[in-house]
Amino acid sequence: MNRQDTRGFSQLGLSQKTLDAVADLGYAEPTPVQTQTIPVVLQGRDVMAAAQTGTGKTAAFLLPILNEVGRVRRREGPLVLVITPTRELAQQIAEVAQAICVHTHHRIACVVGGVGYDPQREALRRGCDVLVATPGRLLDLLGQEACSLDQVEVLVLDEADRMLDMGFLPDVRRIVANVPNDRQTLLFSATLSNDVLAHTQALVHSPVRVEIAPKGTTAKTVTQYVLGVAAEAKKRVLVETLRREGSSRVIVFVRGKHRADHLCRILRKKGFSCASMHGDRTQSQRIRALAQFSSGEVGVLLATDVLSRGIDIPEVAYVVNLDVPHDAEDYIHRIGRTGRAGERGWALTLCSADEYDDLRRIERLTGKVIPAYPRADGLDVGEGAPALDPRRNPRDPLPGKRRRGKATAAQRARGGRSKRPNNTGGKG
Ligand code: AMP
Repeated sequence: MNRQDTRGFSQLGLSQKTLDAVADLGYAEPTPVQTQTIPVVLQGRDVMAAAQTGTGKTAAFLLPILNEVGRVRRREGPLVLVITPTRELAQQIAEVAQAICVHTHHRIACVVGGVGYDPQREALRRGCDVLVATPGRLLDLLGQEACSLDQVEVLVLDEADRMLDMGFLPDVRRIVANVPNDRQTLLFSATLSNDVLAHTQALVHSPVRVEIAPKGTTAKTVTQYVLGVAAEAKKRVLVETLRREGSSRVIVFVRGKHRADHLCRILRKKGFSCASMHGDRTQSQRIRALAQFSSGEVGVLLATDVLSRGIDIPEVAYVVNLDVPHDAEDYIHRIGRTGRAGERGWALTLCSADEYDDLRRIERLTGKVIPAYPRADGLDVGEGAPALDPRRNPRDPLPGKRRRGKATAAQRARGGRSKRPNNTGGKG
């Protein structure tokens, strides 16, 4: 068998068994977050790491933890608890853990919402070394006394910023109250903003700070483009883009669940194979959509921001933001779905006149102007397509609070063009 050369990893202090797991995973060189985190975790220190998804953070915590942690007898455990905000992330972490455990022989359990309780209660009763969980379901199971966290030695809080945004931190604190105080704690967050620090500092003990991607850093392997498009023209621009650029392994982000479903029906009528993925879909529908997309059976995945963070789908050809996200950080997460772990990818954002401020917020966060889409010739971008000034400056002050509804109506009345000085003159 042609095994992966893992020399870069062996410098980090991992045992041969763990290095065998690394070889199976196909990793040759550690990523920066792995280089910085693995030795510190092996020393037993607490960690607070700012690392975006796609940086290899899952292996950064799983490899050293599974390298060190012991194994429990039947009906005991867990020794390791990983808390993560979404079901998809939990399942993804559990899958990587399973792959490593082929060599380390630890037992993994995963408890998430949206599926039946019985199999999860049974798995917990049998005992496990590692438990990966979403907060709500774990609290339910703790309430039912289906599991005990008395033996936990290592606690991982994954995507802490997302858990904060989703209002999960009170649940997380209640869970952590059940975990012994002398544990090791590893906290991962896309950003270590003051807000995240304020809410989580009490959970860690003299942590080593690891900062991989400062706030507003977009993955270097993603080429970004923006195109001004009238709101009414977005669907046809999308269809034409899929025809020109390819309709395989494409993720299209949209605002709103209904819009995702509606678009899915339109694209199917046009002959594209697609699936939608959002918060209203059941767990099994989400799993099926992801599996079909990953296998290539479905070419286009229409998603809301449920999918923008953390989900690991390799080889996404490109991402289309049919709508500009309101939250500038969501933009970074969305485009981070392509160009992962060294692959090349690109992203196209369609921006209508009333989304211009959101676009400017993104550019202010990343500190860069997103270049105009160079292959727009012949695309019908509609009557009210905004002209995006290529000389706009990401540091220019932004207008005050948006009054979205009124602004939209006003802009429509003037044919979709904003009167803002920065928003004129460029190519449409
Ligand atoms: P994560 O940030 O944990 O979601 O990982 C993102 C992607 O990077 C996953 O597809 C991993 O399989 C991949 N990955 C993690 N570590 C490495 C590595 N050292 N070399 C290559 N790919 C990696």
